[in-house]
Amino acid sequence: MSSIQLDGNSLSPLGMGSWHLGQGKRTDREEIEALRTGVSLGMNVIDTAEMYGRGRSETLIGKAIEDIRDDVFLVSKIYPWNANRLLMARSCENTLRRLKTDRLDLYLLHWRFGSFLGEMVHGFEKLKAEGKIRAWGVSNFDTQAMESLLKVEQGDRCATNQVFYNVGSRGVEFDLIPWSQQHNIPLMAYSPLGGKGADLAHHPVILKLAEKHQATPAALLLAWTIRNGRTLAIPESGTAAHVRDNAVALSIWLDNEDLSAIDKAFPPPTGKQKLETR
Ligand code: NAP
Repeated sequence: MSSIQLDGNSLSPLGMGSWHLGQGKRTDREEIEALRTGVSLGMNVIDTAEMYGRGRSETLIGKAIEDIRDDVFLVSKIYPWNANRLLMARSCENTLRRLKTDRLDLYLLHWRFGSFLGEMVHGFEKLKAEGKIRAWGVSNFDTQAMESLLKVEQGDRCATNQVFYNVGSRGVEFDLIPWSQQHNIPLMAYSPLGGKGADLAHHPVILKLAEKHQATPAALLLAWTIRNGRTLAIPESGTAAHVRDNAVALSIWLDNEDLSAIDKAFPPPTGKQKLETR
């Protein structure tokens, strides 16, 4: 699978999320093993946020990558109410401390709230100049919000937009994906398996294609999300066995027949839809 170009970096199209990690669902040891397994298999983009477990996810990741920091492309997200002149530097420092690192590769606004885009961009650029972050971007922005961002001074330095995207939720294909391609801003797909408790993996078409490709339904769903070389997916798993299954997606090539079967079962949008979020 070809790599994704993001702000001058050539990245694996498959990374890892961490929303529910570090919060006692399993032992830290298991989840650390899952994350390190993913990195060793080339899923080296790790996504987290100050929100996740109120910093506990960042703390777990800090432990997991302490001796492999340079092998990881580290992404965290800031609460919208902290993304301002007064609070951004402190939030970033706290995130860096929990992650036991001196810089983030990518810092995202978690979602839009209010209209302080200019102040946010200024804050991100300041952190960049100080070497605390290498690039910045946004999350949960629809096309209109992206248009507003690009009107702000230096808003065009946005490296990515992280949005909800999977076979069951294809609304972004109608306008946001074409807009993003036109502006050369790659998408990060969150909840690529449909999110916790989703049943996409049980759909008969997904099961049949998984069997054809001798892969798990999860790997099949991920292969679809990253099929075009322009989307980077960040599935979450706290178990090394699932992470190994997911990494198989990097070597699955879906042909036109596979894609048509998926389109039939999960039709692409025929009109503009409201951006879905989690
Ligand atoms: P997801 O990755 O679509 O699904 C995660 C679920 O799938 C977990 O319950 C996981 O359980 C299970 N799973 C993973 N691999 C599996 C496999 N091979 N076989 C069977 N089950 C498997 O959903 P998500 O956690 O909502 O999204 C992923 C990441 O995106 C988050 O962790 C977070 O980093 C990011 N995110 C961002 C936003 C945002 O607003 N920007 C919102 C939501 C999520 P196990 O742990 O047991 O494997």
